[in-house]
Amino acid sequence: MNKDYRSGFVTMIGRPNVGKSTLLNQIIGEKISIISNKIQTTRNPIQGIYTKEDTQIIFIDTPGVHKPRTKLGDYMVESSIQTLQDVDVVLFMVNADEGYGKGDQFILDKLIQLQHQHVFLLINKVDLIHPDEVFALIETYTEKVNFDEVIPISALNGNNVPTLVNLLREYLPAGPQFYGDDEITNRSLRFMLSELIREKVLFYTEEEIPHSINVMIESMERRDNKKTHIQSLIVTERSSQKGILIGKQGQMLKRIGREARKDIEELLGEKVYLDIWVKVQKDWRNRTDLLHDYGFSDKE
Ligand code: GDP
Ligand code: MG
Repeated sequence: MNKDYRSGFVTMIGRPNVGKSTLLNQIIGEKISIISNKIQTTRNPIQGIYTKEDTQIIFIDTPGVHKPRTKLGDYMVESSIQTLQDVDVVLFMVNADEGYGKGDQFILDKLIQLQHQHVFLLINKVDLIHPDEVFALIETYTEKVNFDEVIPISALNGNNVPTLVNLLREYLPAGPQFYGDDEITNRSLRFMLSELIREKVLFYTEEEIPHSINVMIESMERRDNKKTHIQSLIVTERSSQKGILIGKQGQMLKRIGREARKDIEELLGEKVYLDIWVKVQKDWRNRTDLLHDYGFSDKE
């Protein structure tokens, strides 16, 4: 082992939509965490692994903290808070464009209780505001918590992101390389594929649909040494939602399938057949048994 090797775990926390997933993708350089302009996009904590000759940083993208309204919501908030306990550095991310809000106070109260973790304040989306406004924002937050570092960034265009990564290294303990050079996420391939499909649903549908669906990859197989066939299933809560997802003459589902297939092919580096089925599973977001089946549970 390289004697100067450093490694550790870093979690990102912040209100929904502040840009956590965007930052993760910017650092890791692959589309591993889905992004959308609708809130509550990320449901399970996702790890992204950054590896260099002398550093490995395992990033945990949390679902975001908000007031839960369903059992799925409860699970999302719980799992975000829990990740804070086991990491070396917490990145508390705020939106420069929106400024201080109630949701931030909820998180700050949790951060104050942390004793062993370093905490950075990341002011994200600075591309949207005038540089002069950054200072006032920094003051608002640093009055409340003593941060180890305060870094204005743009997760979207990458501004200051290398600085952030270099600073993170300084705060990590000496440690081994936990994951191989080419591992960029702990998530299974199936999970990543289902997220690419879910992202398209979020993108093309409105209002209640995005948050009331779940996507599963049911099978993946290569037939006759030709293209890989991927069979996936979208679960909705009501038949009206199923109708919207399928669309007139199946147009909506075709569009979702076409766009998802492009991303999947890019990720896998090969052509695939993608089949998507839609099924109604009444009120799945409030059914503990189904949440467990779909992987939203502490017991893996
Ligand atoms: P999350 O809910 O915290 O994971 O937020 P996302 O990463 O999904 O981002 C939410 C929205 O903010 C997306 O539309 C992003 O493109 C946008 N966004 C993220 N970072 C930036 C940034 O630095 N600048 C701008 N202008 N938009 C950003
Ligand atoms: Mg996210």
